[in-house]
Amino acid sequence: MNKKLNILYCSPEVTPFSKTGGLGDVAGSLPKALAGAGCDVRVITPKYAGIKESTHKLKKVIDSISFKIGKRDEAGSLYEGKLPGSKVPVYFVSCDKYFVRKEMYQENGKDYEDNLERFSFFSMMVLHSIEKMGWQPDVIHCNDWQTALIPLYLKTTFKEKKIGTLFTIHNIGYQGLFDKEKLSLTGLDSDIFNIKGIEYFGKINLLKGGIIFSDIVTTVSPVYSKEIQTKDYGYGLEGVLNERSKDLYGIINGVDYDEWDPSSDNHISVRYSIKSIGRKKGCKKDLQKNCGLPLTDRPVIGMISRLDDQKGLDILVEIMDELMHLDIQMVMLGTGKTIFHNILKKFKVKYKDKLSVNLFFDNTLAHKIEAGSDLFLIPSKYEPCGLSQLYSFKYGTVPVAHKTGGLADTITDYTPSTIANNKATGFLFSHYSPDDLLKAILLSLSVYEDKQTWKKIVTAGMKSDFSWKRPAKEYVRLYKEVSGG
Ligand code: ADP
Repeated sequence: MNKKLNILYCSPEVTPFSKTGGLGDVAGSLPKALAGAGCDVRVITPKYAGIKESTHKLKKVIDSISFKIGKRDEAGSLYEGKLPGSKVPVYFVSCDKYFVRKEMYQENGKDYEDNLERFSFFSMMVLHSIEKMGWQPDVIHCNDWQTALIPLYLKTTFKEKKIGTLFTIHNIGYQGLFDKEKLSLTGLDSDIFNIKGIEYFGKINLLKGGIIFSDIVTTVSPVYSKEIQTKDYGYGLEGVLNERSKDLYGIINGVDYDEWDPSSDNHISVRYSIKSIGRKKGCKKDLQKNCGLPLTDRPVIGMISRLDDQKGLDILVEIMDELMHLDIQMVMLGTGKTIFHNILKKFKVKYKDKLSVNLFFDNTLAHKIEAGSDLFLIPSKYEPCGLSQLYSFKYGTVPVAHKTGGLADTITDYTPSTIANNKATGFLFSHYSPDDLLKAILLSLSVYEDKQTWKKIVTAGMKSDFSWKRPAKEYVRLYKEVSGG
């Protein structure tokens, strides 16, 4: 009989406990699918200020773990809870001085000064906790720069431990860069700071370390795994990734349909499915009411996004005036760069009967937008996977997106042949420019008027299956490879 694979899934955010973006959703759902695929999987993450013991029924399991990082004495404790709707244990690394803060990584657009100490501590705590748990993972699955020191520690300080590592890059634009003078804060020897190690143009680059020192590297879509090996998308790490191309895989993220399904969604006012798609109109009305927009049948374009250049805000604001002269409404939800907050606030005043701008984080509104919109805008310059288009499919909301990364992998563009085959699920534009974005939106709006064709696109999206079943199997295959199983 096959031995169960023990997997420790490490993530700096896990929905519903903590979330700034897609990684939270992935960490809150993939482990459940891994458990379903037969793994003994456990999750470990920091215990941030917002994670309350009473709300999430957490119990303290280890009172104090103390150790040294370089010359620094550190100590933390460990809490345990469960991923909702499952038996998957989630361990929370607790240390008030590092994790009881207003935000998770930065405040007012400025990274916390001590992020290197915070996440060196977290990574060390992960490895020390294993010793106390009496449970040995075959593979530690790390995610993004915040956990990238774990593979390094396993090759250095903890080299007697025989644990495989799989490292997932969710966005190569975030690398965890620090001044070289801070190296001692990681507890690593100075010989790691060289071009074959974690040095990157005179700085410490944690993501680079994760890429080099992990057994296998994955990213979140096949197209993105190719893109990041090129100069245009690699953010300076294309060479390092090229060297690891044999061990680099692209696996599309899945969706937690327990959370994102209009037939069972508690956040929306009317529930619906393909068979009762007419009821989606009720969600549109509810969204318009919530956002103070007039109740009309005209198309509503939704957008939920971090407000960043990566997400295509730069080309969107250029066409905003033209868009607002069309017979449409638009609802935006997002937080991010001050410059975009300011620009959008101005548009909000200028077009108050057509445009709803919501500059905060609100999961319920996110669900209402998915359900109540007709179209969903994802003009990202680059997009490692993107979850919004997958949620949109399920809610019968048609994505208009830039043909890049996971968007290119998951959206079937509207063409005569994809329509004839009932395969089209959205509208893609290839060239990243305001003009091409506008053209794609205009095309989608003209097709919207052709109800029969529109229904075909909506139905194809709603029928698509992006559950975690398939990606989970691919991860299990890689875990086996890493653990020699
Ligand atoms: P990224 O991780 O790059 O931000 P993804 O598309 O992978 O982008 O995931 C974004 C996730 O965060 C989606 O679940 C989206 O609905 C959610 N989200 C983004 N901004 C907000 C917000 N302001 N309020 C609520 N949810 C948000």
